[in-house]
This record gives sequence, structure tokens and C-alpha cells, in this order.
Amino acid sequence: MHLMAHAHTAREKTRLMREAERVCASAGEQFTPLRRQVFDLLIAEHAPAKAYDLLAKLGGEAKPPTIYRTLEFLMKLGLVHRIESLNAFVACEVGACDRSTIFLICDTCGRAEEFDAGHALVDLGEAAARDGFQIKRTMIEATGLCAACKKAA
Ligand SMILES: [Zn+2]
Ligand SMILES: [Zn+2]
Repeated sequence: MHLMAHAHTAREKTRLMREAERVCASAGEQFTPLRRQVFDLLIAEHAPAKAYDLLAKLGGEAKPPTIYRTLEFLMKLGLVHRIESLNAFVACEVGACDRSTIFLICDTCGRAEEFDAGHALVDLGEAAARDGFQIKRTMIEATGLCAACKKAA
């Protein structure tokens, strides 16, 4: 498990876009211009974006139901995550993950860093299983102070 950098370089953006294209293709789905545009906006963001911010950036090219459908689609493929506590969206930084995610959300700058949950949640899964519960997906949102803000404080 390691922390992912949140400021994307041009190369990183290209990598994320290629990965999204690949994921769409292997799901037999179209990466339509709008889907591409929304995903592109999300990878350009430094903090989780609200649906209406995305709408504003699309400049009237899409209506609210359309943007929500697009976000639903991207979430279904694991390319985008919804941060429940903020009601905002982020592009997946660890490559499409339709499984569990952990977000570390900075109270000061608002950035959300995604942990690759990987095996971090195995203990939780095993504890739940002992209780007879089968976890399919876990989303953890932790708030606090990010490394950069802690340094600046
Ligand atoms: Zn992810
Ligand atoms: Zn911060």
C-alpha cells in the first residue's frame, strides 16, 4: 500500500486516459466524447469536483441528468469514485478499481488522496466473515491534514 501523488503530470494524465480507454473497450463500452471530457476534467482537478462544477466547466454542453449518467457510467467501470462525505467525484488514481477504496481527505486544502486499498482491508473482511457477513465493497473516508499542509502549518 502506498500513497499516490495527486498532482498529475502530463504523462500521468495520458496514462490515466489510455487506461480509461482500455477499460471502456474491454467492457464493450464506448468512450464517448462526453465521457472522455468528464474524465479529462476530473483528472485535471486537484480536489474532488462537484457535479455542478463539472457542468459549469462543460459550458452548457450537458444537462444535469446527462452528467450524472456519465458519472454513474465512469463509477461503474471503477474509473471515478464518489466521495460520499463531500458529495463530490474524483478520478481513480490507482487505475480502475471497482473494489474497495480508502480516501484521505485534507480538511485544509480539500484534496483527496486515494490509497490503493489492496490488502489493507483484509482484516475487516475476515472479521466481518466471522460474523457471517460477506463484504463486497468498502469505502473508507478519513479526514485530517495532508503531508503538504502539515509541513506548511
Ligand atoms: Zn480507485
Ligand atoms: Zn492539505
